[in-house]
Amino acid sequence: MKILLLLCLSVVLIGVASLSFAKQSRSERRTLDIYYVDVEGGAATLIVTPAGESILVDAGWPGFDGRDAKRIAKAMKVAGIDAIDHMIVTHYHTDHYGGVPELAKLVKVNRFYDHGPMSALDEDKDFATKYAAYQAATRGKSITLKPGSTIKLKRASGTPPVELRCLAARADIIFGKHENVASNPECLEATLKPDDKSDNARSVVLLLRYGGFDFLDTGDLTWNIEHRLVCPENLIGEIDLYQVAHHGMNISNNQAFLRSVKPAVAIMNNGARKGGHPDAVKWLRELPSLKDLWQVHRNIATTREQNAPEEFIANLDQENDEAHLIRVSVEAVKRTFTVVNDRNGKSNTYQIK
Ligand SMILES: [Zn+2]
Repeated sequence: MKILLLLCLSVVLIGVASLSFAKQSRSERRTLDIYYVDVEGGAATLIVTPAGESILVDAGWPGFDGRDAKRIAKAMKVAGIDAIDHMIVTHYHTDHYGGVPELAKLVKVNRFYDHGPMSALDEDKDFATKYAAYQAATRGKSITLKPGSTIKLKRASGTPPVELRCLAARADIIFGKHENVASNPECLEATLKPDDKSDNARSVVLLLRYGGFDFLDTGDLTWNIEHRLVCPENLIGEIDLYQVAHHGMNISNNQAFLRSVKPAVAIMNNGARKGGHPDAVKWLRELPSLKDLWQVHRNIATTREQNAPEEFIANLDQENDEAHLIRVSVEAVKRTFTVVNDRNGKSNTYQIK
């Protein structure tokens, strides 16, 4: 009888202990996590802070039976969150903001941010309809991000603060210090392209900083605004993680810009036939600072050599229901960050600069 009682007691104790562990691991995270959701050549980058606050930068495409909203919701489940606290749209192209209405129907979104109201877009004849759907989702209450805007984020006890700052928006950039600043030597051979009048150039550019870790997401920013962010003065500094601009297209990823921000790791959210341009892959590989390039998809229209090695690619086929994630986990105290390919478990850990 005594043995039976003891057994019962220990089962209850183990149950209580594991419950409290689960509760603790959810409320007291120790890492900042970034999830690359495969939205087939669109963008959807989910960030969860150590305090459990969530930021989603872009929401993929609309349609395909709500495919991208469902994939984002699945990633949220993996991340252990049930709402998006801050939904940021970098610009008004369908592969970035088109998915917002479906997502807002599927999960709770607390706040919306974008680069401000627009009445028309030359490059999108269906803009009025899409923008109306977006405004219905935000109830017209989106917050306008300007160069220098910050989004206030909670700090978890025992961890450094998380800072999220807008460096550029609506083709305007932050002010430089202009005090005894030596001009950036990378600008000597920099080139310019004809000005881009599309909304890509108006992309919101975000710098996320957590305990010395710097992550840059430029949306679909194009060449000449990239140039202005680093020439004559590098207004960004050196970064750890770079979300390859514009899905890896070669009208973005200005070489002077890449050589100035010196990313240690790059993650490209290309599709099977979108982005991942051989030029952009080459420019990234030529960077002395770059340790690894990871890809959300293999570009099936280019050669194997023009892609990252297969183990660094999350999705190999044209489209699949599994839509594997690429995950990044930042340990500020250890001063490391780890990137994991969810398809094969391949992972690499890097030192924070
Ligand atoms: Zn895009």
